[in-house]
Amino acid sequence: MTDKGILIIFSGPSGSGKGTVMNKLLAANDDMRVSISMTTRQSREGEIDGTHYYFVNREYFEKKISENKMLEYAEYNGNMYGTPKDPVDEMLKAGKAVFLEIEVQGAAKIRELYPDVISVFLMPPSMKTLEERLRGRGSEDEETINHRLVIAREEVRRASEYDYIVINDTVENAVSGIETIIKAERQKTARNKKIISEVINNV
Ligand code: 5GP
Repeated sequence: MTDKGILIIFSGPSGSGKGTVMNKLLAANDDMRVSISMTTRQSREGEIDGTHYYFVNREYFEKKISENKMLEYAEYNGNMYGTPKDPVDEMLKAGKAVFLEIEVQGAAKIRELYPDVISVFLMPPSMKTLEERLRGRGSEDEETINHRLVIAREEVRRASEYDYIVINDTVENAVSGIETIIKAERQKTARNKKIISEVINNV
């Protein structure tokens, strides 16, 4: 048993496939969880309140910030996004690998708060693939797509700040890459200090 759970920052540009990869990971691994963020943006077709996000208005979001209930938050493309604090702490206490699907500003804040956090950047194989995926989604107008592509370039530039880069060429490859990372992290010495004294005391 590791001493506690693992916190993972999971970033990647909009359209990089984070949602699909995350769903597969959660379905196949009982020790993994994802934090459900709060946002002020409008829900897209098919998105469910309480599953994909907690969709709230700005006033409610700001109230949660002032009550110190948000682990981090950021403004992205004109909307607020943030991580509710309590559920993350509970899942970590239960030993889970907890993924935060957040953009780069939030990631920087989490690194300050949790120095042993690990970070994974999901990389599209190319900008062309990313553009095709964004257009294929069909849920946003041209201006929004172009704005997301500009932001995406900036995000890809910052990928070198992450501990791991996983290329999403196929979902299967990306999922197995992340499973391997979590497996290795769980076996890190720093996360397994207790086992040393347990083995010595039980010989
Ligand atoms: P989208 O509108 O495509 O769902 O998300 C836009 C961006 O916001 C993505 O990069 C996503 O990872 C990020 N995001 C989602 N939830 C959070 C959050 O709780 N905190 C931060 N900082 N970013 C988030």
